[in-house]
Amino acid sequence: MISANMAFTMYLGLTQGAIAAITAVGSQAQKDTYLPKLVKGTWSGTMNLTESHCGTDLGLLRTRAEPQADGTYKISGSKIFISSGEHDLTDNIIHLVLAKMPDSPDSIRGISLFIVPKFMVNPDGTIGDRNTVSCGSLEEKMGIHGNATCVMNYDGATGYLIGEQNKGMRAMFVMMNAARLGVGMQGLSQSEVSYQNAVTYAQDRLQGRSLSGPKNAAEKADPIIVHPDVRRMLLNAKAFNEGARALALWGALQVDLAHKADSEDERQTADDLIGLLTPVIKGFFTDKGYENATNAQQCLGGHGYIREWGLEQFVRDARIAMIYEGTNGIQALDLVGRKLALNGGRALRTYMGLVSAYITEHKQSEEMREFVEPLESALGDLQKSTSWLMQNALTNPENAGAASMPYLYVVGLVAIGYMWAQIARTSFDALTKDPQDKEFYENKLRTARYYSSHMLPETVVHRTRVEAGSKNLMELDAAAF
Ligand SMILES: Cc1cc2nc3c(=O)[nH]c(=O)nc-3n(C[C@H](O)[C@H](O)[C@H](O)COP(=O)(O)OP(=O)(O)OC[C@H]3O[C@@H](n4cnc5c(N)ncnc54)[C@H](O)[C@@H]3O)c2cc1C
Repeated sequence: MISANMAFTMYLGLTQGAIAAITAVGSQAQKDTYLPKLVKGTWSGTMNLTESHCGTDLGLLRTRAEPQADGTYKISGSKIFISSGEHDLTDNIIHLVLAKMPDSPDSIRGISLFIVPKFMVNPDGTIGDRNTVSCGSLEEKMGIHGNATCVMNYDGATGYLIGEQNKGMRAMFVMMNAARLGVGMQGLSQSEVSYQNAVTYAQDRLQGRSLSGPKNAAEKADPIIVHPDVRRMLLNAKAFNEGARALALWGALQVDLAHKADSEDERQTADDLIGLLTPVIKGFFTDKGYENATNAQQCLGGHGYIREWGLEQFVRDARIAMIYEGTNGIQALDLVGRKLALNGGRALRTYMGLVSAYITEHKQSEEMREFVEPLESALGDLQKSTSWLMQNALTNPENAGAASMPYLYVVGLVAIGYMWAQIARTSFDALTKDPQDKEFYENKLRTARYYSSHMLPETVVHRTRVEAGSKNLMELDAAAF
């Protein structure tokens, strides 16, 4: 669905986030009032964090919430960049809004979360009067034109506190974590759809001859898919798409296990794993999504730059996924600054233990060697990067900041490498059982080989960047840029 229309699916995605937040921290009355309509899709949801002077640094936000005698709040302020902020696709829009109360600290610790419906809801659940929240204007954007990105003005609008006072960020994080995984899927989806278009073109477009002799002797030229450089661009996308799709499903399984596994231990482990990998799925998938979309555009040559071919739209749409829901730089800081240290590094230990156990289990297998050895080497880069951080980031936090993005890449490459090793194992097993889908599994193995030989070794470069530290990044005076 996201590949088919990324902008439009945001209406659903944000509603899903609102459902998650209300389920997690709403009162029973709030759940009864809002959840059935949101789940049914007759109402939709939004998340309102950003203001003109504050995006990443939400502690600066100025929207106010004045308590009223009847237990409600009057919300006043202006939010910008609010996705799905105003439209008539649904009967009501439930805005989840971050604001500060007068007696709260003027910092990130003083933020509370409020439900502000576009239309008031009558006690019997029917739609009432219009609330004093309105769309001031629509943002003119580079892409995702199918989603209304709005300036939302709150003029003493009636709001209801959801969760505890000053604990708004905790509540909003329920929504943001769901949204981050959703944005990761946007990166994957744009990579996938642009790849599909580029493959069709590359099989059809005749230019030049194959370096190893004509493959299409009946014509004056071969299809461009014969050229190694075109294949490089296509295989980079294909190997990412299939590996990332496996990782996304593995992540979805962890989300389910975190909620539903039988024992507290299993729930905890799954929660640790998905918490660790959420910034990676968001940051790595969307960086790669954009890179693969531009490479797909490149496969079309000049036609990729021309609107009617559609590739430029995927590039424009993919670009935003690297920015919103916390920029990818902020995802990397979340990984290095928060997720690594949490509970004494338990999540990373568990994750590396999983990959390491898999390597040990399959190391002796002759057929698996070409997948397991590169994975072992990449895991070694992750171990070295982590040790370097432990030794150098605590004494100098700039080292953590400098290393964060390359570190996120190391984790992303290893995580997808771990998926490809498992896909290879499954393919070998299926092939020995003499399946009807022989071609399918052999192609999986070919793609797995490409990932192992051409993509996974990038961990070396990123580990080298981690170990280079912050010195050469920070020496240049700000005025000298
Ligand atoms: C189309 C679109 C839709 C959006 N939808 C929503 C929505 O529905 N709801 C909502 O609330 N917001 C939404 N946003 C806002 C979006 O989440 C923010 O734009 C984003 O979080 C970045 O904030 P900013 O634009 O203020 O950039 P800034 O915070 O000013 O950041 C600018 C640059 O500085 C970097 N930076 C900032 N602080 C740090 C730091 N401490 N360390 C390292 N680097 C740093 C950032 O990574 C970035 O590269 C949307 C934005 C767009 C463009």
